[in-house]
Amino acid sequence: MGRKFFVGGNWKCNGTIDQVDKIVKTLNEGQVPPPDVVEVVVSPPYVFLPVVKSQLRPEFQVAAQNCWVKKGGAFTGEVSAEMLVNLGVPWVILGHSERRALLGESNEFVGDKVAYALSQGLKVIACVGETLEQREAGSTVDVVAAQTKAIAEKIKDWSNVVVAYEPVWAIGTGKVATPDQAQEVHASLRDWLKVNVSPEVSESTRIIYGGSVTAANCKELGAKPDVDGFLVGGASLKPEFIDIINAAT
Ligand code: PEP
Repeated sequence: MGRKFFVGGNWKCNGTIDQVDKIVKTLNEGQVPPPDVVEVVVSPPYVFLPVVKSQLRPEFQVAAQNCWVKKGGAFTGEVSAEMLVNLGVPWVILGHSERRALLGESNEFVGDKVAYALSQGLKVIACVGETLEQREAGSTVDVVAAQTKAIAEKIKDWSNVVVAYEPVWAIGTGKVATPDQAQEVHASLRDWLKVNVSPEVSESTRIIYGGSVTAANCKELGAKPDVDGFLVGGASLKPEFIDIINAAT
């Protein structure tokens, strides 16, 4: 079974209404492959989700950048999975390294979030990735396996999960992983899924790469057999995001 190429754009905590209008215009006017060839999901900050969803070309989807770990209620400042579903937001990014590092989200907490979001009908982009220290210590494969295991322990159905391998040292640094480095970790994650979940899940789950992806490096990365697309931060705010969407063609 072929895995459809997936390109996500994580806008992080960026944007004004004027900037959002410009990005949406660029996306709406861009020449891109049809949605049966490439799945495109952009993730603006919560406050811009309704406007982006309503103005964006219909074949592009939207994602929230986070959601609360369980049913909404007395959790000031949080946004629940139910609210996203109610707004018609189909996707959510969970476990981004910025949240793991800055807000102390543990592997278990991310696993709980993924399970709850899926139970409410959301699709999940689940982020994993090692720090530079962990890479230099030779523990990359163990770190991403532990992060994936914490998710696997909480879910049964992987059909609505995309795994984003995002080495922390590559995020926002301009230091992209080499295609071989990305392929090595993606292959190890796929093998982990094969052994610990099932061969079917291993074969069908998309594993995308994130970390300083640009128009200049996306083709080579996307050509690797286990790289099924990208999660793009900085470059998703720029016109070159259209080139990245076209990387697989
Ligand atoms: C990200 O934040 O998910 C990301 C990959 O950022 P950047 O592309 O800017 O490195």
